[in-house]
Amino acid sequence: MIFSSRFAPSPTGYLHLGNARTALFAFLAARQSGGRFVLRLEDTDQARSPEELAAALLDDLRWLGLDWDEGPERGGPYGPYAQMERLPIYAEYYQRLLDSGAAYPCFCSSEELQAEREAQRQAGKAPRYSGRCRALPAQQAQERLAAGEAASLRFAVAQQGVLRVDDLVWGERSYALADLGDFIIRRSDGSPAFFFANALDDALMAINLVIRGEDHLTNTPRQILILQALGLPVPKYAHLPLLQGSDGQPLSKRNGAASLRDLRAQGFLPAALRNYLGQLGHHYPDSQWRDDERLVAEFSLSQIGRAPAHYDPTQLLFWQEQAVQHSDIATLVAWLRDLLAEWVPAEALSNFVAAVRNNIRLPADAVDWAKRCFAPLPLPDDVRAELSAIPATFWEAARSSYEEEPQDFRAWSKRLGERSGLKGRALFHPLRLALTGQAQGPELAQLLPLIPRAEVLRRLTPISS
Ligand code: GLU
Repeated sequence: MIFSSRFAPSPTGYLHLGNARTALFAFLAARQSGGRFVLRLEDTDQARSPEELAAALLDDLRWLGLDWDEGPERGGPYGPYAQMERLPIYAEYYQRLLDSGAAYPCFCSSEELQAEREAQRQAGKAPRYSGRCRALPAQQAQERLAAGEAASLRFAVAQQGVLRVDDLVWGERSYALADLGDFIIRRSDGSPAFFFANALDDALMAINLVIRGEDHLTNTPRQILILQALGLPVPKYAHLPLLQGSDGQPLSKRNGAASLRDLRAQGFLPAALRNYLGQLGHHYPDSQWRDDERLVAEFSLSQIGRAPAHYDPTQLLFWQEQAVQHSDIATLVAWLRDLLAEWVPAEALSNFVAAVRNNIRLPADAVDWAKRCFAPLPLPDDVRAELSAIPATFWEAARSSYEEEPQDFRAWSKRLGERSGLKGRALFHPLRLALTGQAQGPELAQLLPLIPRAEVLRRLTPISS
């Protein structure tokens, strides 16, 4: 089946990992099946949706690599793609529901509704609208509207019957219509309610797959009722189990969930996030690194699990390391150029990045190696102590062999081995310690030609403890 799916964020904050995962799954499902991926801004909460946030959202999605086929800044046949620009469309469909008797104006004030809910609660009943205004004679309702009385619009839910909702993740669920209560589809200030605009737009934008968070699962029956009343197609739904923090609590700043923006600022690569998020609550055939082609080709809606997924920063770092190792040099150079400019000469940048790529995860690691190569090297006390135990003759031999073979580490170390009589770890360990200040790190053969000659000679000087 060809799935056209969408991501429909409300731009009330920066994109967080939960939403980014929803967007990725919707993107992958569309791409995998050859369908369209649509972006729609649900910006009807004007007080909380400033334009900067919408712009940041588009920017974050592009950075993550989720380019949409239709949507803001791109257009498409079913636009406009921001809900505030679609109000005239909603007006037309409200009218259809009024005309067919599927919706009615409700004049109840919020105080009245609250009192009603309170009474229901005290009587041990689930709160839902009593249907008071549904019983108003049409003539009376018309007069009150004509007199300018504020009214919301409610959807009239059948009082009997059962609605079956099939979810690709949760299977079939049944809802007794009598339990739903007549719900608001237009607020008394005229703004569209989520249930209505969201479901209508999906149908009008020819979306046949809705992937979204589990928190919307219980909205689905109401949305299906609206679509059925309008004679519009009902999409398939896949509700993703919530993404929780490492402590099992809802994801928040406190349990480590940064916004995509924060992670980007920390230097995470978009390919790392794609691989990490793609396996969060979705099972690929194995847990290897995947390039974009395989992320798409091996994605399957049937592999979305029901257990809550947990954000795990260690896993994210693992995928970041993989992303660095799988990126080409040009990508890595672009990623690090600005940060390294202070330390690494432009002409050495590519070679430096090639030398350290297997030893870095985040840009800070690359800066650390850049300083080790291009700035004076401070040695920790334990390293100093270890080096000072090595006889001065070793360092003399090291310097003289280096002067003879300054560019070729292999030739140099071979010569030094012959002169000092040392080999293996006894030879290479002190060299690595003296040259980098660390027992482990990038290949010395790649690093050595990068370290300025004067620095190399300084580092090959005997150390007094
Ligand atoms: N604007 C809604 C949200 O951000 C969309 C839900 C949906 O995808 O249907 O939660």
